[in-house]
Order: sequence, then C-alpha cells, then structure tokens
Amino acid sequence: MKREVISMIDMHVHTDDSPDADIPASELVAQGLKRNLAGIGFVAHVDLDPEDYCYGGFKETVYNQSIELAGKKAGNRILILKGIEVGEPHIYEKQVKNLIDYSNYDFITGAIHSLSGIGMVLGESAYEGADPLNVVEMYYLETLKMVEVSDIDILAHMGLFRRGLALAGLKHDFNELELWPDTIRRILETIIDRNIALELNTSGLRRKEKITYPTPQILDLYCRIGGELVTVGSDTHREPHVFFGLEEGKRLLEETGFTKTVFFRDRMPGRRDLLQ
Ligand SMILES: [Zn+2]
Ligand SMILES: [Zn+2]
Repeated sequence: MKREVISMIDMHVHTDDSPDADIPASELVAQGLKRNLAGIGFVAHVDLDPEDYCYGGFKETVYNQSIELAGKKAGNRILILKGIEVGEPHIYEKQVKNLIDYSNYDFITGAIHSLSGIGMVLGESAYEGADPLNVVEMYYLETLKMVEVSDIDILAHMGLFRRGLALAGLKHDFNELELWPDTIRRILETIIDRNIALELNTSGLRRKEKITYPTPQILDLYCRIGGELVTVGSDTHREPHVFFGLEEGKRLLEETGFTKTVFFRDRMPGRRDLLQ
C-alpha cells in the first residue's frame, strides 16, 4: 500500500496499551520516523462504561513506561505526546479523576462511544430495533452535554456513529447539518468558547463509509464561525492502517481554509503551520 511521507503530528494513535490495539509505542515511533511524521500524540482508552470492550483495560503504570520508552527511542527526532482518550467523560470524569491525575498527561481527549440505553454507537447493534436517525440525534445531544461540562482538550471523532450505520447496512450519506443544525452549531460554539480542539479523525476514510469524522460540511461550519483549534488523528489501532489518511486530512483542512493545526503539551495548545 502507498506510504506517503508526511510532516504532521498525528494526535490520535493507540498503542498495545489499549485492549483493542496491538502495536507497541516504540514500534510506532520507528514507523513515524520512516514516514517523516513531526510528532505522535499517543492515547490509551480509559473507559469506565462496563458495556465497553475496553472497560477496565487501562493500566497506567504500564502505559507510562511504554510511552517513556517510546520517548527515549524518539530522542529529539519526533515529538512524543502522552494523552488519554476518556469515554463519556461527562458521565465518568469524577471516577476517572479518582484514578488518574490529569496533570501527568499532555492532553485529554473526550469521546462518545456509547449512549445509555442504546449501547455502542460504533457497532451495528445500537441500530437494531431503533430508528437510526433517532440514535444519531441522541448521539449529538450527548456530544453537546459532553463538551459543555467535561475537562477535555480535544473532541474526538465526532460522527463515529457512521461506522455503526455502515456496518449495519443502513443509510449513512445524509447531511446531519440539515437535520439538526442548532444542536451541531451549539456543539461547535461550545468547543470554541471552551478552547476545546476539534479532531479531524481520518479513520472513516479506510472504512465503508469513506468519510472523515466530522464531515467536511461540519468542519467548514466550524471554520466559518471562527473555530481555529483543529487536530488531525488517524485513530491508529493496528496494521495495515498505521497513520492512515493524514495526507487527505491535511488536504481537507487546507481546502476548508485552515492554515494551522494544534497539538497539546502539558495541556497547553501549541500551533503548527499546515504547510511545513
Ligand atoms: Zn474512540
Ligand atoms: Zn481512539
């Protein structure tokens, strides 16, 4: 497969410290160096929803050691950032903070993987016996709740429900901005007000749905209402999709009108020119 050479920071990379991923952090550093990546923002799933596949899978000491080793391997050749991806932080944040000191991480990513009473929106079962659009509407309402209250730096993969819809063989090529313009606009205004970055997640480009999360239309609205903090993340979990879609993500950001991306170090945003 084509391996492009790209000078970007991939802000969503899972290591074998996540139960659903299998590449060691130091191996990802080696691959990042080959691909001329400027940096890797590592994340590990922190899921306290018992229904989640990754429930209870976070082993902090092991993860820290693995990122430390990766940092040594990287030296100053590639920027290594340590983050966590917290599932439904508006529900579980208190519990998570009892276990984890956020100040030990460069960034905290907030993700909606499941909806209470419905289940995992990234799988097909959430849509069985339900009105799919109703589930999607609930997903956006839940996302709004999350960004209103959670202590997060990045909003992860907004639109991940498309993966579940595509797996279930359901229609997924609708434009949600036409269906729920107010809710989506409020989400974007809220993240702008709270300095939460919007992640452009490219993992949908390698799946049936062949689209980024969020969609180009939502990314465009975010830009037009003054949003500036964007990250790009491949959501790498395993081969053969390591760092997949970064080039296309970069092109989409440029086309939309962004000139910079952000990364987080010690939970402070740093800006980086797209064209370098
Ligand atoms: Zn996720
Ligand atoms: Zn992830």
